[in-house]
Amino acid sequence: MPPPTTPPRLEVRSLKRRFDEQVVVDDISFAIPEGQVTCLLGPSGCGKSTTLRLIAGVDMQDSGEIFVNGALISDAVRHVPPERREIGLMFQDFALFPHLTVAQNVAFGLSGPKAETRARVDELLARVHMGRHRDSYPHALSGGEQQRVALARALAPRPRILLMDEPFSGLDERLRDDIRDETLALLKDEGTAVLLVTHEPHEAMRMADEILLMRGGKIVQRGAPYNLYNAPVDRQAAAFFSDIN
Ligand code: ADP
Ligand code: MG
Repeated sequence: MPPPTTPPRLEVRSLKRRFDEQVVVDDISFAIPEGQVTCLLGPSGCGKSTTLRLIAGVDMQDSGEIFVNGALISDAVRHVPPERREIGLMFQDFALFPHLTVAQNVAFGLSGPKAETRARVDELLARVHMGRHRDSYPHALSGGEQQRVALARALAPRPRILLMDEPFSGLDERLRDDIRDETLALLKDEGTAVLLVTHEPHEAMRMADEILLMRGGKIVQRGAPYNLYNAPVDRQAAAFFSDIN
C-alpha cells in the first residue's frame, strides 16, 4: 500500500482579486508543506498584502480556492471566518495589546486548562528570551523585544499556518538580521508552515525554503532561493536580486 500522503498545510488555487478595473491578485497558486517557510517576494504594490488578507479571511477573493490541511476554507460560496481558520497572523501594524502584560499578551489566544496555558506561555517566553519581562507592559519594551513577544503570541495557539507581512520592517537595521535568524530558528523548532511577505530579496534569501517572486499580481518565478538568485527568470528579476549585499 502506498503511504498516506499528508496534505499541504496551506494551498491556494487560482486566487484572483480585483479592485475596480485593477487585477491585484492574478491567478495565484501555490502550496506550503508542514515546516516550510515560503516567501512571497516582490516590489511594493505588486499584491502581496492583498494575497495574505485573502488567506487570513479578512478580505474575499473573486475566484479561486483556499485549503488549510486539505480542507476547503474558502471559495466562491464558502467563507470560513478568520478566527476559525487556525491561521496565525503577524503584521507590522498588528501591535501588542498595550493594557496587557507580556504574559497576558502571549496567553491571549489560548483556551483550556490554566496550567497548560501557563506552561505554553512560559515555554515560549523562555524561547524568545523574554521570561524576565513576563509582567512588563509593551510600552516598557524596545522594538526588538516587542517583536519577540509578538512572535510568541502568534505561535502560542500552534497555528497550522503563520502569515507574516513585512514583520521586520519596523526594526532597527542593525537588529534585523539577528531577529530574522532567531525567528527562523523558532519557526523551525515549532514546525510551523509560514508564508512570509517581504519586498527585500536579502530577507527572502536568508529565510525562505521556497521563494515566490511576484510582480503585477502574478507569480513570475518560484523555487529555492539559490535557484532564483543564480537563474533569474528575466532582466527585471536579475536586477531585483542584484541589490543583495
Ligand atoms: P503590496 O503588499 O505588494 O505592496 P498590496 O497588496 O498592498 O501590495 O496592493 C496591491 C495593489 O492593490 C495596490 O495598487 C493597491 O493600491 C491596491 N489595493 C489594495 N487594497 C485595496 C483596496 N482595498 N481598494 C483598492 N485598491 C487596493
Ligand atoms: Mg504590503
